[in-house]
Amino acid sequence: MAIASVNPTTGEVVKTFCPLSEAELQACLKRAATAFESYRQTTFQQRSHWLLAAAALLEQQCQSLAQLMTLEMGKPITEAIAEVEKCAWVCRYYAEQAEAFLAPEIVATDATYSAIHYQPLGIILAVMPWNFPFWQVFRFAAPALMAGNVALLKHASNVPQCALAIADLFAAAGIPVGAFQTLLIPAGRVAALLADRRIRAATLTGSEPAGISLAVAASQHIKKTVLELGGSDPFIVLPSADLPRAIATAVKARMINNGQSCIAAKRFIVHTAVYDAFVAGLQAAFDAWRIGDPVDPATQLGPLATATIREELRTQVELALAHGAKLIYQGELPPHCQQGYFYPPTLLAEISRDNPVFVQEFFGPVALLFRVSSLDAAIELANATPFGLGASAWTADASEGDRLIRDLEAGAVFINGMVKSDPRLPFGGTKRSGYGRELGRAGILEFVNIKTVCRY
Ligand code: NAP
Repeated sequence: MAIASVNPTTGEVVKTFCPLSEAELQACLKRAATAFESYRQTTFQQRSHWLLAAAALLEQQCQSLAQLMTLEMGKPITEAIAEVEKCAWVCRYYAEQAEAFLAPEIVATDATYSAIHYQPLGIILAVMPWNFPFWQVFRFAAPALMAGNVALLKHASNVPQCALAIADLFAAAGIPVGAFQTLLIPAGRVAALLADRRIRAATLTGSEPAGISLAVAASQHIKKTVLELGGSDPFIVLPSADLPRAIATAVKARMINNGQSCIAAKRFIVHTAVYDAFVAGLQAAFDAWRIGDPVDPATQLGPLATATIREELRTQVELALAHGAKLIYQGELPPHCQQGYFYPPTLLAEISRDNPVFVQEFFGPVALLFRVSSLDAAIELANATPFGLGASAWTADASEGDRLIRDLEAGAVFINGMVKSDPRLPFGGTKRSGYGRELGRAGILEFVNIKTVCRY
């Protein structure tokens, strides 16, 4: 894929970029390695000062950064603004917590002094997706930089202006030269880059094939990886659920980011006692959802990010129908949305287990509906997927809640709430959704050398 900003609302090519030459890439690596030598010796107070400055800049530049995201990948402007604000939050969170998270821990042994020290690893390569072009980067960068690592960002090829703006922002916050750099390179150059001995570890947020490719390349050189991959999160509704709240949350949980979120609710598993009422409510909510230009603050559903993503979604829906799924509802696109990469809100039901889409992730505003007749059946169906990222379940019965928390195979379970990330809580998946954690204390511990220290 060429490195370019293409406005998904119009299909217009806004700006194209030349990838870095090999010599330019080597210069970036050298700068990062040099930066690490002094950066790793800076104090938490110093690094915290830079991260707080980054947070302040994010807030000052919130409007323009949000507009850049909406221009390059089409998310509704209100969601883009919230994303920039959340980036400021994660910077502040780690600026305030990192020192305590990484404080040496004394462990009594036969030594005079024995303890666990947490030290930075070096250059960390981050391969990031376009769907939350700021948030994905900051949730990696804030803990990595606070731990004393330096970072190289290979962002998705369709958000180069966001990638460059993030590097500019860190520079303006005073982070030393070379400590955070954006590399404009295509995906095909990542494996070779990982071979460089100066890169110590890598993190990737994106699709399964990209994750496999990165992990295979990293394993050749015994480098640690964190993978945040796809999801097909269940949204379970049981008879005792507060139905109006469940429906209002369900539509948001499916439509967030124009339906392109790893933790969007994708499979709605509903008890037969409330199935008809839930489906009617969800259909009404889908129908009322405002489709339009994402720069308009009233818009709730904008275009998909690229022509390819829309094509893939269209093909998936056709495949589902060809294998016996039933189209319950498909909205209409308004006349002014015919040009860009818009896809209408869609509800599919009767997806059998041998339907090829049963195990697939739908990355767009398409909800899959399933009817079940018991809690056991709901849990079994929720787990019948290769993914294990998040799960949301709705019930007023505390014992049902306990069962769901124990038995759902997911990195996060939310009872009577929507799955969302929070800087204070770890985030990540099980099964084919990946491994490792971001955020919380667990997130900052991924890229440190947990060093045993003994003095006699
Ligand atoms: P993608 O194609 O995998 O792209 C993600 C990043 O990986 C981009 O920077 C891409 O670069 C790079 N990449 C692609 N192939 C690669 C390879 N073979 N080697 C190294 N890097 C490679 O992901 P996407 O389809 O755009 O993003 C959507 C997916 O991400 C969904 O499955 C979604 O669920 C997942 N996601 C997961 C999380 C999470 O936290 N678990 C969060 C957000 C999204 P180019 O752009 O240059 O190809």
